[in-house]
Amino acid sequence: MAKFIFTTGGVVSSLGKGIASASIGTLLKARGLKIAMQKCDPYINVDPGTMSPFQHGEVYVTDDGAETDLDLGHYERYTGTTTNSDSNVTTGQVYHSVISKERRGDYLGATVQVIPHITDEIKSCIYRLAERDPVDVVIVEIGGTVGDIESQPFLEAIRQVPNDVGRENVLYLHLALMPYLKASEELKTKTVQHSMRAMRDIGIQPDMLLCRSEVDFDEPVIQKISLFCNVRPEDVFKSLDVDEILKVPLALGEQGMDTRICAKLGLETGPCDLTKWKAMIRGIESMKDAVRIGVVGKYLDLNDAYKSIFESLRHGGFGNNVHVELLKIDSEKVTTSNVKNRLADVDGILIPGGFGNRGVEGKILAAHYARTNKIPYFGICLGMQCALIEYARNVCGLKKANSTEFDSGTEHPVVDLLATQRSISNLGGTMRLGKYVCRLTKGTRAQIAYGENLITERHRHRYEVNNKYREQLAEAGLILAGLTDDGALVEIIEAPDHPWYLGCQFHPEFKSRPTDPHPLFRDFIAAAKTYQHQRLGEEKKTAGKAPKTGGRKKS
Ligand code: GLN
Repeated sequence: MAKFIFTTGGVVSSLGKGIASASIGTLLKARGLKIAMQKCDPYINVDPGTMSPFQHGEVYVTDDGAETDLDLGHYERYTGTTTNSDSNVTTGQVYHSVISKERRGDYLGATVQVIPHITDEIKSCIYRLAERDPVDVVIVEIGGTVGDIESQPFLEAIRQVPNDVGRENVLYLHLALMPYLKASEELKTKTVQHSMRAMRDIGIQPDMLLCRSEVDFDEPVIQKISLFCNVRPEDVFKSLDVDEILKVPLALGEQGMDTRICAKLGLETGPCDLTKWKAMIRGIESMKDAVRIGVVGKYLDLNDAYKSIFESLRHGGFGNNVHVELLKIDSEKVTTSNVKNRLADVDGILIPGGFGNRGVEGKILAAHYARTNKIPYFGICLGMQCALIEYARNVCGLKKANSTEFDSGTEHPVVDLLATQRSISNLGGTMRLGKYVCRLTKGTRAQIAYGENLITERHRHRYEVNNKYREQLAEAGLILAGLTDDGALVEIIEAPDHPWYLGCQFHPEFKSRPTDPHPLFRDFIAAAKTYQHQRLGEEKKTAGKAPKTGGRKKS
């Protein structure tokens, strides 16, 4: 039978509950345990698929096509496990299911209430994950903070879990903020005390505390927290700022958190083997040079909107022993007259996915600039569609080429709605979602990167390359580097006579891992590194003297 770890948060959000939960996953997995992870989100949307990236950050897509919270990306990257549609539970899903059952008459005349019907539904979502593919430990993160009105049914549901599975099989971990007051030079524990009291008010006495603090603290503070919060001193842990976020599992492991978790849950395991993770960290610490990647997008003020892409670019750097510096470029501000200026001094250009026509012409200009100046280019989903439109306009001479997403009456709809999308009117969960098999064309950059002929990648789009233009584009030199296995859809394009210019209709960023960089990101960064050497070499020749740097140093 599975054991359950519930992580809750207090005081404020953005304390890194997702990373902490994922890091516990890393540690338990490194002990040889089989784990599953789940995020409970208390909002009423059925999933984040319909939410603006400004509101919610990236929508992370699972293999089985669920549109989910970005914390699932942390879970997959940190633990190397694969999440699924049961891994993200929202209030919207829970109510949707309960109301459907009520309409079917499943409750046999009962008055349907938050307790027990909503809480039972939440618990069944938690147990379903444990049963789907039996695991040793299920780690469930409850979104929001204790005290939020909307989190209450989730907290009530997890309070009830020990009644079903036995208290000895459940561990509650609470993460709370301890602020440092500069004026009085004091670290305050009162916030943690209040947060823990709020947990006790709803009937949960957390077993472990993770105190988020900007400054280190010592034994007397731990003793005080222990006394006031009813948690043994050896179960009070520190979550201090780290210079590299991927060090969090090591920081928790050094404090013995996994040892305590296993002891408390009666889990017998081997030692914690973090060899690969530690080698990755050593690799990061040994990097001296950096490449600069221009990311031309819309939501650049928010790191969360392109979370997996930024992480995957970093992984690509890990695979090439270089840091990746990001130059974030607002596509709405890119024009014919400034494109050269804005993209001068980048070693590679990436255009991420996106929806709607705002800023799209800037992206097409950037794709053109990358192709004609032989700068490594990586277009993801919309970024591939922009590259295709650019090629159609400027190489095939179809000056008015566009996607019907941006111009429904375009003369040359080189990107058009997928046939399966034409009759769809609901927005939620209706795109081409999840994993599909793609067959790679021999000798292409893509095939060289993957080293395989058949791959699977995750999708989230409604539009596709219009097959009516496939031949014309190919005759003009565009390389169709990947097609669906039945050949019906174009999945990867590449430009000819270019060191590395690739667009993919899928989202490779969802499958990259820090210890196992995705092949396309790895090879894109390798191409950027080569391009940088060439560029600096040319600068040297034109200047007739040594360049300022031998490679870009990390700033
Ligand atoms: N808007 C485009 C489509 O729906 C691209 C989507 C994306 O980039 N995820 O096809």
